[in-house]
Amino acid sequence: MARDPRFDILFEPVAIGPKTAKNRFFQVPHASGMTNANPHVRAAFRGTKAEGGWGVVSTGACSVHPSSDDSPFPFASLWDAADIRAHAVMTDAVHAHGALAAVELWHGGAAAVNRTTRHAPLSPSGVPWMATHVGFMSSARPRVMDAGDIRDLIRWHAEAAVRAEQAGFDILYVYAGMGYLPYQFLLSDYNHRTDAYGGSATNRVRLVAQLIDAVREATGGRCAVALRVSLQELRARASENAPSEAHEIIGLLKDAPDLFDVKMDYSATDCAPSRFTPEGSHEPVVDFVRQITDKPVVGVGRFTSPDTMVSMVRRGVLDLIGGARPSIADPFLPRKIEEGRAEDIRECIGCNICISSWHDGVWVRCTQNPTAGEEWRRGWHPEVVRKDAEGTALVVGGGPAGLEAALTLARRGFAVTLAEAGRDFGGRLLWETRLPGLRQWFRVAEYRLGQLRRMPNVSLHSESALGAEELRDFGADHVVIATGARWTTNLCGPNEIPTGPIDAPRVYTPDDIARGVRIEGPVAVFDFDNYYMGSAIAEHLAAEGLATTYVTSAGSAQSWGVMTNEQPLVHQAFRKAGIACRTLEIVEGFDGRNLTLAHVFSGERSTIAARSLVIVGQRAGGSALYDAVVAEGIFPSVALTGDANAPGAIAHAVYQGHRTAREIGAAPREVLRDAPYAMRDIAAPREAAE
Ligand code: ADP
Ligand code: SF4
Repeated sequence: MARDPRFDILFEPVAIGPKTAKNRFFQVPHASGMTNANPHVRAAFRGTKAEGGWGVVSTGACSVHPSSDDSPFPFASLWDAADIRAHAVMTDAVHAHGALAAVELWHGGAAAVNRTTRHAPLSPSGVPWMATHVGFMSSARPRVMDAGDIRDLIRWHAEAAVRAEQAGFDILYVYAGMGYLPYQFLLSDYNHRTDAYGGSATNRVRLVAQLIDAVREATGGRCAVALRVSLQELRARASENAPSEAHEIIGLLKDAPDLFDVKMDYSATDCAPSRFTPEGSHEPVVDFVRQITDKPVVGVGRFTSPDTMVSMVRRGVLDLIGGARPSIADPFLPRKIEEGRAEDIRECIGCNICISSWHDGVWVRCTQNPTAGEEWRRGWHPEVVRKDAEGTALVVGGGPAGLEAALTLARRGFAVTLAEAGRDFGGRLLWETRLPGLRQWFRVAEYRLGQLRRMPNVSLHSESALGAEELRDFGADHVVIATGARWTTNLCGPNEIPTGPIDAPRVYTPDDIARGVRIEGPVAVFDFDNYYMGSAIAEHLAAEGLATTYVTSAGSAQSWGVMTNEQPLVHQAFRKAGIACRTLEIVEGFDGRNLTLAHVFSGERSTIAARSLVIVGQRAGGSALYDAVVAEGIFPSVALTGDANAPGAIAHAVYQGHRTAREIGAAPREVLRDAPYAMRDIAAPREAAE
């Protein structure tokens, strides 16, 4: 199909200094958890986006020197010839599809405490970055950079730039954002210097301007030089010379880089969860940049709608449409728009499982795209599934796992029947996405249903609860059971290990609320699941007008939400909704009027009034249907998948459904293991590095 002419503007080439991007789709640098230790995994992940039509594909933050070591978080480096070789695999994969390759040269300063390299962290004025969550927290404090350190920092960037060009990168970033070192010079909170690098805005931008010049000179003007800059704090600060400090600083730097990449300052606002933040949320902070500079500007905002993208360009906010999450959820987003198939876009749902992967220190995982990170290891392509099957497959259960399994089985060539007991498809999503803020998560079902409904080899049957007998009568060659999990009323002990169920009146689980049970207030929600369900239910009950207390065994509300950037926003939402929040407590008893709580460390008891108790704790998988058909042994091929197999996040259910469908009835495939290049693998390493 031809592209809709109203999207033509998105496919115009854009000059970026000495380079030209073939279109306006720009995959900005984003964490992937893929480091130089996995060069082929990373190359395939990034190369797939180039294949999918992104005009520029960037790698993630890339350390310029061992004094910028982010461990235990995964990060890339450009320290030596082995690193050049590792990145060259990626740039080759990107260039193979006509895209430009970009690299974000990075020095973390006080935000990178060098746990592995043991360098003293660097900073403009010794101001630490006081993170208070696991992985970020550290007892190391930075030292103050002297003039020699500043000269070194500039030289390290120049040397890394030379290596980056050798590795084949077209666009080299200077990174003055997200609390990292060049940004620390821009922001007066960090920069208390009294030399030429501190004080006035002119002095505070000096380092960034020198880094840009150094990178450009080191590569003889052959590579484009981009500046990535965070503007949220700066825009909120008054300036004597301009509408804000952000205006003043961009004004001073307006001719320095070939491209501005503009963003927010904090992960929770920059990579904001859709639950609390809409598409395009950066615009009020970054909208002024293009009015000050003639250089092209790229920015993000979880853009999934081509109309929004066009509007960003036409209204003069951005020249290039930045994508991080939308490019993970659908590496083929640009191609789908170009081919007039916008309805096929697998839209990002803004759940931030991807960013949780980086916090976990592993390769990126995505709720919408189960192939993310598996392009090389398992050979999974996000759009193409090898047509290697014939015969029939029956999928039981139309939740995320069943829908994904049905879609992938159908792509393999099976004649697929999907049977769902309920009136609608979507499983847990049907109700969960009616909870406050979660509406966009229904895209997981919508995308899959949209595809399935157009496939001639698929038949969808709702209101079809299947038992062992029906399965037997149906007689499919392959059966996939994806019947989901259920929440239990189990409590937990002070060690947070689930104990037994509680016997009391008006004790409920999320499944009861989904069924429409009326809850009497005041209500307490006891959460030891620690993901979104407990806090979302508390918000839901408060919105119904019930006096709500949220109790958790963890130290904060939705404690795992620290991984998905939701946690600060959950606390804000609780405050706004008047939800009382009690942390580090477990429920010890409930009699229908009072709830007895015990502190997890001290054991100290307290009582609160509550008529109802909702327990969001343990989920149980398993399937009696599966057990029955396996016991009968009538099907040669039966698989249990999704939450029924192992309850987890939606991402886990989708992944399991995908993997089951790829593997059922197929010859086993080798799972490849990647390995880093080492200096000993490189011929004449010293010369190559110079
Ligand atoms: P998952 O996240 O693993 O996909 P869900 O709980 O979201 O799990 O979805 C499971 C779906 O399976 C639900 O929609 C449920 O109605 C359906 N289901 C459960 N048992 C049967 C059955 N025996 N026959 C058909 N559908 C079933
Ligand atoms: Fe979007 Fe969620 Fe996928 Fe991240 S994990 S790209 S937020 S759908």
